[in-house]
Amino acid sequence: MMDHSLTIGAMMERAENFFPKKEVISQTHDKIHRLTYKEIGKRTRSLMSALDKLGIQRGDRVGTLAWNTHRHLEIYFAAPGMGAVLHTINIRLSPEHIIYIINHAEDKIIFVDEDIFPLINQLHEHFTTVKTFVVMTDKDTLPETTLTNVYSYEDLIRDGDETYEFLEDIDERDPAGMCYTSATTGKPKGVMYTHRSIALHSYALGLADSAAVSESDVAMPVVPQFHVNAWGIPFACTWFGSTQVMPGPRFTPERLARFIEEYKVTITAGVPTIWLGLLKEIETNNYDLASLRGVLCGGSAAPIGMIRAFEQKHHIPFFHAYGATETTPLATFSRLKSYQADLSMDEKIQERTRQGILAPGLEMKVVDENGDIPWDNETMGELLLRGPWIANEYYNDDRTEKSFVNGWFHTGDVVTVDEEGTIKIIDRTSDLIKSGGEWISSVELENVLMAHEAVFEACVVAIPDEKWQERPIACVVLHDGYDGKVTKEELLDFLKPQFANFWIPDDVIFVEEIPKSSVGKFLKRELRKIVLTFMEQ
Ligand code: ADP
Repeated sequence: MMDHSLTIGAMMERAENFFPKKEVISQTHDKIHRLTYKEIGKRTRSLMSALDKLGIQRGDRVGTLAWNTHRHLEIYFAAPGMGAVLHTINIRLSPEHIIYIINHAEDKIIFVDEDIFPLINQLHEHFTTVKTFVVMTDKDTLPETTLTNVYSYEDLIRDGDETYEFLEDIDERDPAGMCYTSATTGKPKGVMYTHRSIALHSYALGLADSAAVSESDVAMPVVPQFHVNAWGIPFACTWFGSTQVMPGPRFTPERLARFIEEYKVTITAGVPTIWLGLLKEIETNNYDLASLRGVLCGGSAAPIGMIRAFEQKHHIPFFHAYGATETTPLATFSRLKSYQADLSMDEKIQERTRQGILAPGLEMKVVDENGDIPWDNETMGELLLRGPWIANEYYNDDRTEKSFVNGWFHTGDVVTVDEEGTIKIIDRTSDLIKSGGEWISSVELENVLMAHEAVFEACVVAIPDEKWQERPIACVVLHDGYDGKVTKEELLDFLKPQFANFWIPDDVIFVEEIPKSSVGKFLKRELRKIVLTFMEQ
């Protein structure tokens, strides 16, 4: 067979050649843009020529601080297409982490959405390698700044060469993209993707037994393009010619519901907090969401009550998937097997709370201190992964040694496996609660609490305990209108039939909101501090 490289430039070329009429619909600050892949292809080429003129060379890092828009999509292809590396930066991180990431990655140029530009004005003096900034705006004028090396994105496109060629001599093992973990558990760690890993991961998204992304889809990635490349959806959708809907800056649940209805979105993806918001919206106002064939949910565990509401009440198929920055991210996908069709509705919903089975091409091991655990749905162990889209190291980081051992990525996630081989994420190693020598899963308690009709969000954390070492405490945000209508005791009684006695939290604290990470995950470190202060009072 030919030793032919899979490259990101060729993905865009395929969209230009075979799907020139298909569209990308994109919300920016000022308006909705509708561009065909023919136009997106030309603009991507112009952008490559601009990067070239601005002195960007092979291997240079091209940073982005941007929302999900067509412009961000163009950079996804232009940077790797001319041999550089796309580095998407999480705009919601703290300024300190943003500075750390930009300097650590040694970004040469930064593309920034106009509403995020004030942040650049504040932070630029701390950047050690950035030479140029490009503002992504619909306006004719640039925002006010004392910086001199600032360009307008649309000027670059206008002055660029729309016939510029994607670089031919790229090896598929060359770096193409870079993301940093969202720092749920510490300082961000960088992961470098290759052309090959992104292409193979895109194939995986297209498999019928995973997300089955295809030409006929209208895909709306709600997961940000700065969070593990919107889970790789923009790459796969462009390659396969799907219509894409980019929800743009500061979207609301109302905008998401409206876009699904208006553009007949078939598939969408995001973290559970996004879907909790959407659920609230569609239960308050009327929308026709019949076009949806799948809501993909990952990033943290999807609560059973939410899955039930989507599946049973709204008849929207809901798919749970699992992965991490280090895994590009798709690692497991949850679908019922053909012979599980006879399960009762309740059993099916239970199945859907599991994170599913491993994508073809990847391998897994689940181990505890005695080695491989049995697949008995009870024994817990850490999930280890390897495969062509699993990272082999952190970029220039001495934490590599801890997570990448003997060719396996140690995910830090504790799971059980059933006899079908489906995994259930029990907790992160750091969030498991150790009480009297036994493990308690905060995630399982949260999921059941969130199935109570009064509970909007629930988060369970460990607090130190003299006798038991650690004990669980539940923090609960109630749905509107339930204040004062439900007691701690009622919530604990709701848990009791479902868990062993020692699992039942020592207390329930009602809070206004749960602190969340930059990508919408519960920030347990922060919550633990709040709980400890509360308990001291
Ligand atoms: P960070 O590690 O900073 O949160 P990532 O976005 O890479 O950044 O998160 C990956 C982690 O998210 C996984 O290791 C796992 O703990 C959690 N996760 C991802 N998907 C799921 C899921 N479907 N259910 C439970 N946890 C999940």
